[in-house]
Amino acid sequence: MRGIVFRGDCTLELATFPDPTPGVGEVVLEIKASGMCGSDLHWYRRPAGEVPAFIAGHEPCGVVVAVGPGAVGPHARLGARVMVHHYKGCMGCPDCRSGWPQMCRTAPIVVYSADAHGAHAPYMKVSADTLVPLDERLSFEAGAAISCGTGTAWGAFERVGLTGRDTVAVFGQGPVGLSATMLAKAQGARVIALDIDESRRKTAKEFGADAVINPLDGSVPEAIGELTGGKGVSISLETSGAAAANRDALDSVSPWGTVCLVGIGSEFNFSLAKYLRTQVRILTSWTMSVQAQRACADFVVDRGLNLDALFTDRWRLEQAEEAYQAFNRQSGGKGVFLM
Ligand SMILES: [Zn+2]
Ligand SMILES: [Zn+2]
Repeated sequence: MRGIVFRGDCTLELATFPDPTPGVGEVVLEIKASGMCGSDLHWYRRPAGEVPAFIAGHEPCGVVVAVGPGAVGPHARLGARVMVHHYKGCMGCPDCRSGWPQMCRTAPIVVYSADAHGAHAPYMKVSADTLVPLDERLSFEAGAAISCGTGTAWGAFERVGLTGRDTVAVFGQGPVGLSATMLAKAQGARVIALDIDESRRKTAKEFGADAVINPLDGSVPEAIGELTGGKGVSISLETSGAAAANRDALDSVSPWGTVCLVGIGSEFNFSLAKYLRTQVRILTSWTMSVQAQRACADFVVDRGLNLDALFTDRWRLEQAEEAYQAFNRQSGGKGVFLM
């Protein structure tokens, strides 16, 4: 089979690999949809020689087509529609047992696409422990989104304890930010969506944002102040990874509020003397637990959310080069490879 491998400096290759066969405790999926996630770009843009030689793609969704010896669990059966929680830990420690294998401190963790082959290929071999069921009412594309981007937005709101009383500023309206806008609205919150790209702001409106702001139009904290009677938002969710957005997220939150940082790529520092008396909480959030991935999927089904609308670009593997060049411009919606 052929799979997409990043080669550094914004290049990639459709490389040839043997079709996978499942080992002990493993299954092989026929991949139906493999999403493109913002964090792919950090690998795609790296210098040559600093990129793992594994098949990319960490939003896997498909059907089980081979079951290895000792692969147990309700989803390790031929024909099961599944998503993958794309990490493998020791599966015995408290973090793994609580559904957070990516936090395992007992064994080196495997992140599929970075430490083992990912999903940008017709087949993918995974540990049976990673499987999360895909409801019949969800498309494979939706399952792919929930496997990282949308699940990450859900996980962040679990961390901050979002309620319908909150006003949330979502910084960045890429795949994670747009998912956050949709999920926060569906949970009853008021949403202010920010992005420098006009088409992304327009889409955020269509996904239910109560107000949109272009950060290039002037002071973001002032604009948010005007929309909140001078109070600021109760939650800032930063998904863009831009340093200026980190700063604005902190300066736009009300006293006792919460700043949740999800976007990767920047560094920022702040004066404790300036913020100490605001009592704000600043926390990081990295993807989601297995249980949260499933809860997110259940919520999308129960509320009838149209997650398929996140996708603006559907690609074949052969279009990989064009697909990542387009994604690297960071102005459209979410892309997915359909096999
Ligand atoms: Zn563990
Ligand atoms: Zn991701």
